[in-house]
Amino acid sequence: MKGYRLLLLAAFALAACQQTGKQTAQQESEHTAKADIPAFATDSAYTLVEKQLAFGPRVPGTPAQEKCAAWLINSLRPLADTVYVQRATVTAPKKKQLPCINIIATFNPAAKRRILLLAHWDTRALADKDAFNKTAPMDGADDGASGVAVLLETARQLHAKKPAYGIDILLTDVEDYGESEVEHSYCLGTQYWAKNPHVPGYKADYGILLDMVGGKNAAFYMESFSKQYAQAQTKLFWDVANKAGYSDYFRYEDNGTGAEDDHYYVNTLANIPTLDIIATQPNGNFMPHHHTSLDNLAIIDRRTMQAVGQSLLHLLYTDPFNY
Ligand SMILES: [Zn+2]
Repeated sequence: MKGYRLLLLAAFALAACQQTGKQTAQQESEHTAKADIPAFATDSAYTLVEKQLAFGPRVPGTPAQEKCAAWLINSLRPLADTVYVQRATVTAPKKKQLPCINIIATFNPAAKRRILLLAHWDTRALADKDAFNKTAPMDGADDGASGVAVLLETARQLHAKKPAYGIDILLTDVEDYGESEVEHSYCLGTQYWAKNPHVPGYKADYGILLDMVGGKNAAFYMESFSKQYAQAQTKLFWDVANKAGYSDYFRYEDNGTGAEDDHYYVNTLANIPTLDIIATQPNGNFMPHHHTSLDNLAIIDRRTMQAVGQSLLHLLYTDPFNY
């Protein structure tokens, strides 16, 4: 996706001064034991990242795309009530026609109240921000695979203990084939889905996008389009995450981050208020490994996935409409 730095505030100095303490094992067990909130299985999520990487870069139009799609569909079918597979052809910059495979796993299809959870599963074709080799392929361990892994692991929990409301997990394709100078060239799978939903007239109360949720040294600041379109839901997620013990990760300071990410199109085309959980640096930039060959398995930190996955389960198994 495309990034904006809207404001460069004193947030950098503020954030840099804050301690990044680590949770103790005791705190960890205390907050996962609360109420009936399942414990997020971080090792399982980590394995799900490895499995995606084993297909090679999931670049649209390559054999890895079909192979990974089949694996995602087969993984979700036993867990969800219904799995929809949306195949389309989308037009990338330079009029490149690309196959697009969006996958939607639905839980409690008849429920009126619904939450949409989404992540992109494709990999950017080239590590064009790499310092040394801008045409190197990238693994997309954080950019793509981490969010998908957290959602697949969440699907397993939803299957084991179904909430009373509806949930739709949308794995979108062709998010990362864009060029920053070409308007609306990112998030092509989501743009297609927003204009052609898997169920005619599809609506959800709100949506949560996970993008780059597994990297080392991650912090999650409230992203500007999230605040613009889904302020109350964004605040709810941050409050839940902070109460769950993840204040080192979910920060209230404003670092001016804006990301023209999948949620932007869910907000503007599908009119579903949607927030983006996306790691950024205190200065508002994306993480240093973004779109470089460093975005590989070595960048993945289980603790980051734990913070995001457990916070999400806290939200889903407490009161997700309390905003
Ligand atoms: Zn990307």
